[in-house]
Amino acid sequence: MTAWLEKQAGRGRIIGFVPTMGALHRGHLELVGRSRLETDITVCSIFVNPTQFNDPVDYEKYPVTLDRDIHLLTNAQNDVLYLPAVSDIYPDGMSNLPVYELGQLESTLEGKYRPGHFQGVCQVVDRLLQVVRPGKLFMGRKDYQQCMVIKKLLQLRGFPVELVTCETVREPDGLAMSSRNMRLSPHERAGAPMIYQVLCDLRDGLTPGSLGDLIGKGKERLQSNGFKVDYVEICDADDLQPVTDWDGRLALVALIAAFNGPVRLIDNMQISF
Ligand code: AMP
Repeated sequence: MTAWLEKQAGRGRIIGFVPTMGALHRGHLELVGRSRLETDITVCSIFVNPTQFNDPVDYEKYPVTLDRDIHLLTNAQNDVLYLPAVSDIYPDGMSNLPVYELGQLESTLEGKYRPGHFQGVCQVVDRLLQVVRPGKLFMGRKDYQQCMVIKKLLQLRGFPVELVTCETVREPDGLAMSSRNMRLSPHERAGAPMIYQVLCDLRDGLTPGSLGDLIGKGKERLQSNGFKVDYVEICDADDLQPVTDWDGRLALVALIAAFNGPVRLIDNMQISF
C-alpha cells in the first residue's frame, strides 16, 4: 500500500488520512468528507490499537462493526481502507516501543486518568503515518487533547503533514457521537446528554474572576445525576493549563470525562475565543 500511495503522491496527488478505531459514526464520516474536499485520495484506517488502552476491559469491549463500517465508507466514497493486523503495526512486538516527550500534556486530564494512553496513541499514529505518508491528517476536536498530542508528535518526528482538526459531531440531543455510545443501555443513553448540558452551563455561566464555583456546580450536576466524574475542568485553549481565575480575555476550553454506568465518556467545548 505504501508503494501504491507513494506512486500517487509522486503524480502530485495529495493523500488525506483519517485514522480510526472503527465502529464508525457520522463524526468519522465527517472527517472522510472533509478529506475528500481537501485532498485527492482519502485513506481511512481501522485499527483498535491495544497499546492505547489502559483498561483491558475497555479494550475487550470496544465495539467492532466491520461490515457496517465498510458499507458506510463505501457510501461516503472513501478511496482506501487500511485494515492492518497488530503484527503489521507492531512487527517487532509491543514491548520495546518508542517513548515520546509529550511534556505536561501527558500528565493532565486524559493523561492523568489514563496513564500511558497518549504514548499508545503516538505509537500507533507514528507507525500509521510511516505507512500511509499523507499530506494531510484529519482528526476530531471531540478528542481535543489528542489533537494537541498529535500536533506535538508531528513536531517531534518532523513529519511533513498538515493536521486538520474538525468540529465535534453531535446527536440531536447534544451527545457527542462516539463509538462507545453503542455500549450505553437505553437508560444510560437517555441520561448521557447531561455532559453536553454541563458544558453549555459552563459556557453560559462564564464570567471573569474565579471559576471555582462554576466548575463545582458542573461537577455536582453530573454527580447528582449518577455520573462518576473523573474531571470537569476549564483550561487555556492553547496549552490545556487549568485556569482558576479568568481575565475575561484568554481563550478557554471546558473539558469533561465521566463514567455513565460502565462507559467512560469525554467531551469538550470551547467556551471563549
Ligand atoms: P476513534 O475511532 O474514536 O479513535 O476516532 C477516530 C477519529 O474520529 C478521531 O480523530 C476522533 O477525534 C474523531 N471523532 C470521534 N468522534 C467524533 C465526533 N463526534 N465528531 C468529530 N470527530 C470525531
